[in-house]
Amino acid sequence: MRLENLRGEIKDHLLDLQDKGIEELVIRRAPRLSPEVKLQKIREEIGDCTRCKLCQGRTHIVFGVGDPHARLMFVGEGPGRDEDLQGEPFVGRAGQLLTKMIEAMGFKRAEVYIGNVVKCRPPENRLPEPDEVATCSPFLLKQIAAIRPKVIVVLGNLAAQTLLQTKKGITQLRGNFQELRGIQVMPTFHPAYLLRNPDAKRPCWEDLKKVVAWMASCPYNPV
Ligand code: SF4
Repeated sequence: MRLENLRGEIKDHLLDLQDKGIEELVIRRAPRLSPEVKLQKIREEIGDCTRCKLCQGRTHIVFGVGDPHARLMFVGEGPGRDEDLQGEPFVGRAGQLLTKMIEAMGFKRAEVYIGNVVKCRPPENRLPEPDEVATCSPFLLKQIAAIRPKVIVVLGNLAAQTLLQTKKGITQLRGNFQELRGIQVMPTFHPAYLLRNPDAKRPCWEDLKKVVAWMASCPYNPV
């Protein structure tokens, strides 16, 4: 229904009520939930999840970690061995590098939010398969909707392709902002790739500098 038509219907309805002698209406808004509560509800919804086959080999569901009010979010593909054991994303060698990248950008790790496309460790650290991504990624989208960060840095092919709904590779995507539901998205290399390919650290840093510059110039939420 078009907005003008909807407005007309509401007006007619209110005039109807007035004709029936109702002079006053009390409008109650549904209470707004905080990001903390929204995240807690998403975690409760996931529960002891067996929705996809990745549940079979996991130790912990790796939900995500960080500030529920974060302006900056990082998204990787899925937990590895260390993350599975500790129940926290990006705690292994790649995670330590990610922490350094965050700090080089001028943030503390606790000030950002870190999550993954899938929440259970794929066996032998293989890439998550399409059915697993399709089953688990809606929870990530709900987390993003709860946090509403200003910028999401997507790390590596799978995270970029999932959030941006594209088949383009990270080499093509990286370094250019895109948009997801009004949120700026910057694709760049995964820290695990940077550990194997140190030459990629410089272009990755250029991508992160663009994020810092964008956040500094953001009129609504300056760094
Ligand atoms: S990966 Fe996601 S959907 Fe699959 S079992 Fe784990 S939490 Fe559930």
